[in-house]
Amino acid sequence: MDDRDAALMRAHEHATAWLDSLGTRPVPPQATVDDVVAALGTDLPDGPTAAPQVVDLLATACGPGLTAMPSGRFYGMVIGGSHPAALAADWLTSAWDQNSALRTVTPAHTAVEDVTSAWLLDLLGLPASAAVGFVTGATTANFTCLAAARGEVLHRVGWDVRHDGLTGAPHVRVLVGAERHESVDLALSYLGLGAPEVVAVDDQGRIDVPALADALAGAPVPGTPTVVVLQAGNVHSGAFDPFAAAVEVAHRHGAWVHVDGAFGLFAAASPTYRHLVAGYETADSWATDAHKTLNVPYDCGLAIVADPVPLRAAMGMHGDYLIQSDAGDPLDKVPELSRRGRAFPVWAVLRALGRSGVADLVDGFCRHAAAFADGLRGIDGAQVLHDVVFTQVCASFGTDERTRDVVARVLADGTAWMSGSRWHDRAVLRVSVSSWATTDADVRASLGALARASAV
Ligand SMILES: *Cc1c(COP(=O)(O)O)cnc(C)c1O
Repeated sequence: MDDRDAALMRAHEHATAWLDSLGTRPVPPQATVDDVVAALGTDLPDGPTAAPQVVDLLATACGPGLTAMPSGRFYGMVIGGSHPAALAADWLTSAWDQNSALRTVTPAHTAVEDVTSAWLLDLLGLPASAAVGFVTGATTANFTCLAAARGEVLHRVGWDVRHDGLTGAPHVRVLVGAERHESVDLALSYLGLGAPEVVAVDDQGRIDVPALADALAGAPVPGTPTVVVLQAGNVHSGAFDPFAAAVEVAHRHGAWVHVDGAFGLFAAASPTYRHLVAGYETADSWATDAHKTLNVPYDCGLAIVADPVPLRAAMGMHGDYLIQSDAGDPLDKVPELSRRGRAFPVWAVLRALGRSGVADLVDGFCRHAAAFADGLRGIDGAQVLHDVVFTQVCASFGTDERTRDVVARVLADGTAWMSGSRWHDRAVLRVSVSSWATTDADVRASLGALARASAV
């Protein structure tokens, strides 16, 4: 066996050993950053080392410092697992090493991207003519969609932002709900649009439509270029903005409507939960992640824009040395030029699950979240702080101090990983169910850990 095959074999063995360990190992890491640095060693060797040995060293040194994020008992932030078909396709993606920027240079990836895009638009109930860009995550997807939005609303008032920049441009208003994800603000900052105007939300974190209507009507100059950002899936409550009414009023004022649905957009793929996004298909752009609800490995986000023209106007580029296609190239839809073949794992998970499998995946997360809420309500002193409508559950254990103590004790217990946060001015425990690997037994074991942590 040559070095290449031996290295790949070793990687395969380490990978399966890691995946096999997920059922029994503690979910939190068992080593600190300093521990792992010490195990790796810090001296850059003067000469070469054989690839299989390098793989062994990496796996051995990193093992204790790995967090069991693909475990069925990881509920922190919003972290999807890795479906086996997507994980295996991701390995192939690295082996194939396709730079997927150009349509005709890498036809296999372009074909898969085209087929996958059509499947996604169908599953999500979005316009079949929309453009889909495969980016690194929802932050970049928000940026990409909002770049198209910025260009288009300025174009409508006769300003070419690509050519003339923002200096001296008409002011662009951006309205967001008070509980939008912080990555929206980051994307706006990348775009030079500054801090958004904040619209009030209700007790679940949903944008208040009359307040949005008032804000829109209060434009300092009528006809001001305006973008409204709505949300499908609040990271604390899981709540969805009332899309039909919000999009209608925003469009009445000529605004571009963008939806941040990093994990919530896939509610649309479930007949049971589709009602949560009713009316969202009339928006102008949507951002989501494939590495959250859809369970492909990091990293993969999707930037979807109903009208491909403003997206291409914002993202397209020309290079004399590039072999570009009249049909448009994948690079026209994303901020990057070179990028990996991100569509391969997305195709694989969709092909493996099928339409009903994607719906079952979403329904399963929601069923487990509801079980968490029920279990938490049965724990003395615990209180679920919102309507549990999707995959997120936030709870308090009384005082902020007690809640923080319970979160710390659950992490120390090691059965499950859940994050603390602050929501509506109080400390909370957050549970996000986002992995295909989570079972009823995982939820029971994790509730057991919560009961132990709060019994102290
Ligand atoms: C996770 C998340 C994001 C950011 O997504 P990344 O993939 O981490 O860039 C944006 N919006 C919402 C609602 C999220 O949950």
